[in-house]
Amino acid sequence: MINYVGRFNVVPSIPEKLLPLKKIAYNLFWTWNQDAIELFRRLDKKLWEETHHNPVLMLGKISQDRLSFAANDDSFVSHMNRVDEQLKIYLEEKTWYQKNYNIEGKNIIAYFSAEFGLTECLQIYSGGLGVLSGDHLKSASDLGLPLVGVGLCYKEGYFQQYLSNDGWQHERYEITDFYNQPMNLVKDKNGEPLKIQLDFPNRTVTFQIWKIDVGRIGLYLLDTNVPENNDEDKKITRTLYGGNIETRIQQEIVLGIGGIRALHAMNIKPYVCHMNEGHSAFLALERIRLIMKYYNLTFNEAKDVNFYSNVFTTHTPVPAGIDIFPNELIEKYFGFYYRNELQISDKQFYSLGTIIKDKPPVNFNMAHLAMNMAGYVNGVSKLHGVVSKKMWQSGFPQIPFDEIPIDSITNGVHQQTHLSKDMNELLYRYLGERFRRNPADDEVWKSVDEIPDEELWRTHERRRERLVAFARNRLTQQVIERGGSATEIAAAREVLDVQALTIGFARRFATYKRATLIFRDLDRLASIVSNPDYPVQFIIAGKAHPQDEEGKKLIQEIIQYTKEPHLRKKIVFLENYDMNVARYMVEGCDVWLNNPRRPLEASGTSGMKVIANGGLNFSIMDGWWDEAYQPDLGWKIGNREEYTNLEYQDEIESRIIYETIEKEIVPIFYNRGEDKLPRSWITMMKNSMKKLGPVFNTHRMVEEYSRKFYFASYDKRMGLQKNNWKHAKEFSAWKTKLYENWNRIKFINITEEGKNDEFKVGMKYPIIAEIELGDLTPDDVEVQIYFGKVDNGSNANKFVNMENIPKKGKEHYYYRGEIDCNATGQFGYTLRVLPKHDILINPFELGLVKWAAEVK
Ligand SMILES: *Cc1c(COP(=O)(O)O)cnc(C)c1O
Repeated sequence: MINYVGRFNVVPSIPEKLLPLKKIAYNLFWTWNQDAIELFRRLDKKLWEETHHNPVLMLGKISQDRLSFAANDDSFVSHMNRVDEQLKIYLEEKTWYQKNYNIEGKNIIAYFSAEFGLTECLQIYSGGLGVLSGDHLKSASDLGLPLVGVGLCYKEGYFQQYLSNDGWQHERYEITDFYNQPMNLVKDKNGEPLKIQLDFPNRTVTFQIWKIDVGRIGLYLLDTNVPENNDEDKKITRTLYGGNIETRIQQEIVLGIGGIRALHAMNIKPYVCHMNEGHSAFLALERIRLIMKYYNLTFNEAKDVNFYSNVFTTHTPVPAGIDIFPNELIEKYFGFYYRNELQISDKQFYSLGTIIKDKPPVNFNMAHLAMNMAGYVNGVSKLHGVVSKKMWQSGFPQIPFDEIPIDSITNGVHQQTHLSKDMNELLYRYLGERFRRNPADDEVWKSVDEIPDEELWRTHERRRERLVAFARNRLTQQVIERGGSATEIAAAREVLDVQALTIGFARRFATYKRATLIFRDLDRLASIVSNPDYPVQFIIAGKAHPQDEEGKKLIQEIIQYTKEPHLRKKIVFLENYDMNVARYMVEGCDVWLNNPRRPLEASGTSGMKVIANGGLNFSIMDGWWDEAYQPDLGWKIGNREEYTNLEYQDEIESRIIYETIEKEIVPIFYNRGEDKLPRSWITMMKNSMKKLGPVFNTHRMVEEYSRKFYFASYDKRMGLQKNNWKHAKEFSAWKTKLYENWNRIKFINITEEGKNDEFKVGMKYPIIAEIELGDLTPDDVEVQIYFGKVDNGSNANKFVNMENIPKKGKEHYYYRGEIDCNATGQFGYTLRVLPKHDILINPFELGLVKWAAEVK
């Protein structure tokens, strides 16, 4: 390989008049501003497509002629100035955060994710997790939240998919030239790229930092492809979810530990760190190390306080989806770190990687590490919150299921990113500016009723036409690239029907998503799609993970089906599902189908993207749909059943799908009056927009994270670090005292005052308890009666605090409380002692509960 002695970048010579173009290109605000996208398309339509919608690359490649022409085109220049003005206003206007909170200081929150899906030209995402992270940043920007993003800068990113003639998936990795992306290298004081070092076994690994402006938000991407590193280390940040387990731990060290170091080097010292999935959980260790180093706290003190400054969001109910590292690998990378930096024993360190406290740790689980390190933990839909509690129940022995400290915040989508230009303009006309600024306001959405049916339907139909045109183009391209015959090419040009009921299905080809479910009964499917009066068509897309043979087989199977003569024109598979393909699909489909195996879809977000676009959801009651479904706005598959016989489940659920399409979806869609409008369908579209629009968006989601987690966490952190971490040290000492004394807590006596065989509704049932607390006092604990009805076989689930009553001359404490008998039936009760302290988010986070009777 040639070693160059120098490098330089050639930048286009942009006429003075057009300089704002550069500014616009370098802020991803354009990715959710239709006017800006239109501007780039207008500048050079062909190049815009060729560069995969990358304005920076486009400005680098565009001919000087084209630029001069645009500079002399008054209408273009005024279009550009309008967008420039919009960006300026956007960056300067007063936001939700400034109006309502405006805590001092910048960059209070750091959001870490292994992938970010911001726009199609930036291949640093693979699927839902990435798009969610991207949408999180965009809404944080709209809301004005003092947040920064941290991720990795993958040179090859995620793969491009193409299929061979027999339908087998192949992967192509495209090298991204960061210098031609909307990002800039972070420089140090001397104008040189800022470099950060990490200790790796027997060597140092160096990385540089790229910054992307996402509206108001800075996203920092870490890149190990620098000359200081050996060839292997240069590749650490090469691919997303590629390589082996060792690559994985290296990437996660760069992301977590490197991420914190990078922020500090840029003088960004976040109070709250959000780990979006466990990949970034090492960040918690680095935060502890820094507190120890700069403020002289012990490991335990630092860990105790830092717990309140971390947020962990889990995204998978599948244990296989969680990173687990063997202890040997952890030892290799962290041996020095925990012994010399954190100054703890191996036993102490390895216990951080598990939530199972009564067994020696066998490996290091990143989700467990994140849970041990974060006071705020959540799943991504209501159902997933419950599923996560089940999955990790064994880590919370003694704690009633309902009270396991795992919350849920349902995912959303960034409205302006996923909404078509046509529908956006229509909604803007009827809902007004407020709809763009605050899609989480349900008042705004009520005006959907004012949109004339005709207009809504025409707008939607226009998008369906665009989708069909896009699909034909793509398919033709695919056939040409595969070396198809002239007949095949001609056939690809005339697939689908612009008027037919169009059902979309696009997602990763993980087996639990059951992409081939609709193909279970081919005859029935054929009769549905080829009904001459009421035709139905399917558009399918999705990538299988490169190592997932099963997923690839599913794709191949679908390709075989789409070649059957009677299905050929009605069912198409679009290659290379990415944000661009997704956009056409969610904007143009009538129905969005989702049939995962419940409860494995943590949330799912693609179905949310169709809402404002006027599409209707048809899904298993899983993920977000489990809490969204109502009969007047979409369709469900099944009634929340879970099966052990999976064959049987597929049989039942595929039949429900056919049945629902035939008996409900098709009739409503094709029920047209004189004016050809499907009035009942349009009513459902409007219901779906009105009821789901304000809820399933990232504005609502980011506001929820802010209110529930970020601001609470920030307040705790400020309190704890005040007066040179006085409270932190006190709190940590208190915790130690609590652990030391917990086993000394004893229930000496429990008496039922005025015991009576029969109680009437409305009466109180008083209980007095005599309790020994060791060195603890009533200030340290809460004593509760835990009670509920037991006659229906369910667990007790209510509690009431007892009051400490003074009694002299004894070493024990006395408590009194009353059960409110507000219903008939048999009640059961027990007593429990819980930790009590202002700092605690909830009394269960220390894992300490003392029950009056042993809990199994
Ligand atoms: C939205 C989106 C996803 C996530 O969809 P799910 O419903 O969660 O499967 C995946 N990939 C792309 C390209 C997307 O745009």
